[in-house]
Amino acid sequence: MTKQDNQFKNVIAHAKEYGYVAQSSEIYDGLAAVYDYLQNGVALKNNIREYWWKSMVQMHDNIVGIDSAIFMHPTTWKASGHIDAFNDPLIDNKDSKKRYRADVLVEDYAEKLLKKAQKEIDKAKKRFGDSFDEEQYKTTNPRVLNYLSKRKDALQRMGKYLDANRLDAVKALIEELQIVCPVSGSKNWTEVKQFNLMFGTKIGASANNSMDLYLRPETAQGIFVNFLNVQKSGRMKIPFGIAQTGKAFRNEIVARQFIFRMREFEQMEMQFFVRPGEQMKWYETWKERRLAWHLSLGLGKENYRFHKHEKLAHYADAAADIEFNFPFGFKELEGIHSRTDFDLSSHKKHSGKKIQYFDPEINKSYIPYVVETSIGLDRMFLAVFSKALQEETLENGSTRTVLRLPEVLAPIKVAILPLVKKDSLPEIARKIQTDLKLDFTVVYDEKDAVGRRYRRQDAVGTPFCITVDHQTIEDETVTLRYRDSMEQKRLKIDQLKTIVSKEVKMSNWLKRIHL
Ligand code: ATP
Repeated sequence: MTKQDNQFKNVIAHAKEYGYVAQSSEIYDGLAAVYDYLQNGVALKNNIREYWWKSMVQMHDNIVGIDSAIFMHPTTWKASGHIDAFNDPLIDNKDSKKRYRADVLVEDYAEKLLKKAQKEIDKAKKRFGDSFDEEQYKTTNPRVLNYLSKRKDALQRMGKYLDANRLDAVKALIEELQIVCPVSGSKNWTEVKQFNLMFGTKIGASANNSMDLYLRPETAQGIFVNFLNVQKSGRMKIPFGIAQTGKAFRNEIVARQFIFRMREFEQMEMQFFVRPGEQMKWYETWKERRLAWHLSLGLGKENYRFHKHEKLAHYADAAADIEFNFPFGFKELEGIHSRTDFDLSSHKKHSGKKIQYFDPEINKSYIPYVVETSIGLDRMFLAVFSKALQEETLENGSTRTVLRLPEVLAPIKVAILPLVKKDSLPEIARKIQTDLKLDFTVVYDEKDAVGRRYRRQDAVGTPFCITVDHQTIEDETVTLRYRDSMEQKRLKIDQLKTIVSKEVKMSNWLKRIHL
């Protein structure tokens, strides 16, 4: 098992042990690619959602939010193109009987080439030291050039074949690149087939008048079909955005990466409606704004990168992913798509309704263009959680497991610990808890030695511990312990709220992006 596999296994085990995420219906041996969020998990998820919502809706006076239904009229999915084109190309390995997405096999191959190129660059960096010119090296070193051009060629060819629905050519490409099954190690592949990812269901009681429906595979269409409702009732002027968070469902073929790829998941999407011709400007703006949101959480700039799409979806004229360095490598965390006027035009055509906008500034009616930002809440959870989980060796040689969640997102902000269970220390601690819980999520813990309690809170990710001891009785001071530095400060009880607030209050984090 590689170091990466091990790290990922630890993330999954830690998420379960500390009340974050468990497999759905686990007592019945679980349901593949479906997960439940437990007491701490739901709090972390709610905090991420709130941080996104406030940044998008509260901090932009031209963006409003909605909550549309999961069930939608079936014509929606005809209009959006999902019935005809929401397919993944799948391929089976005949020896391991494992099923893969053909495009992902090629992408993984391309990623390996990128890693090889990076290895060469890192080696040269070490050799040449300060005088190293990375850009020049990348464009002149034959080995690096070879890796990068092979990578580009593979991705471009795959994009071209998929666009033309040439599945035989995709299979031939996999064979030509000598891609092997990660499980069996063989190249014994089946043909590539298209597989529709939507879940079907029925609405209505009797067989005669029931209607075939789909569980929505994205939240975006709920926004498009409400374009006129929101624009008119809110007297919105272009450019403006509509945001929404909610469940989406996809019958994913390959679903073995914990909450990275689920069959039921949550999206946080925003559709920004703009004047035709201005979409590229807004596309660049939203790429920048979304990256700034991510960076504000302090998980490390080096863990993000943009990936420009070679193969564009049927509705897009430009698209990029923000990729994150997950425990299994860089993968898509968020998509920023310039969706043209495809969706609104298509709904106009299929519904017969007059979906358009009169722009008073230029005295013209048109169908707006759309730039969308679309992030998976569960993937964001995994990004935050996996980077936060760290094992560190302390000065005395012992190890500590600490979940360094950004304070603003941590499910529990403060733990209150009486040093001993007697001498009125619990009563004082309870009083502090009663006061602080008006503002923060607080837990009270009096079990075990205080050192062990600290470690327990470190593993849960609680940024502050407050310890009440005998000195508290004399001078109303307590110890405030910081999770990350383990620093301890002696403070007056009445100073606690201000100090904790400064670190955990969402407004202080939003300021980093918006002021
Ligand atoms: P992928 O290529 O990884 O399948 P996608 O390009 O199909 O993703 P989009 O349709 O752009 O994804 O969806 C927007 C976002 O929704 C993604 O960036 C991702 O964060 C999230 N998402 C998509 N599918 C899943 C899933 N099965 N499980 C969890 N999150 C998902």
